[in-house]
Amino acid sequence: MEIVIMLGAPGSGKGTLAVELAKETGIRHLSSGDLLRAAVKEGTPAGVKAKAYMESGNLVPDELIAEMIEDVVRADANTQTLLLDGFPRNVPQAEILAGMMARAGVTLRCALLLDVPDEVVVRRISGRRVCPACGAGFNVDLLPPKQEGICDACGAELIIRKDDKPETVRHRLEVYAEQTFPLIEYYRGTDKLVTVDGSGDDLAWKTQTALEKIRG
Ligand code: ADP
Ligand code: ZN
Repeated sequence: MEIVIMLGAPGSGKGTLAVELAKETGIRHLSSGDLLRAAVKEGTPAGVKAKAYMESGNLVPDELIAEMIEDVVRADANTQTLLLDGFPRNVPQAEILAGMMARAGVTLRCALLLDVPDEVVVRRISGRRVCPACGAGFNVDLLPPKQEGICDACGAELIIRKDDKPETVRHRLEVYAEQTFPLIEYYRGTDKLVTVDGSGDDLAWKTQTALEKIRG
């Protein structure tokens, strides 16, 4: 197995790009946020612990998310390429991941940064909508549903995620700047960083560019 790490601010569109890359290539997409939200919804012990952190826009404890990710990596040993979206989220997690990969004999293909200016990030997050029934994600600008306010996949009414409320968004951006942003230098230092310009709205272009960079 090899791993591609997705890096980018909340609202950079990295989740949307990851879904698209997975669709195009059959690469397995693993979103730490989705994994955590599913655990919260099911009320697993990890989910119960994670809930309050997530609702306030803080990171959940490193070991909690690291264990969940390691379970998937172990169970998916036959997957060729795994696209990690949302993990690692800080330098300690990157170090945990490096240890995990060494133990599992997994290599790092690259860390793909979707680079987006701050103003765009704020606008994107305020446009974000999710389906409470099936979890599908949309964006009023970037990825609008066919019918406004309605999920394409299942027809349920779309909602704004609790942690996409303005005060929480501001806090998440601070957390990103303090904890996640340093990962860019971390992976540049290991010569694994590749960058895609994420400021435009053309998802097909971003997908093709990302694929070229991943394939090297
Ligand atoms: P975002 O849009 O901020 O990228 P995610 O869906 O990736 O949102 O994550 C939502 C929330 O889940 C985060 O605000 C955080 O509380 C938690 N979370 C996700 N991934 C991690 C991680 N690797 N470490 C700690 N907390 C995480
Ligand atoms: Zn739906």
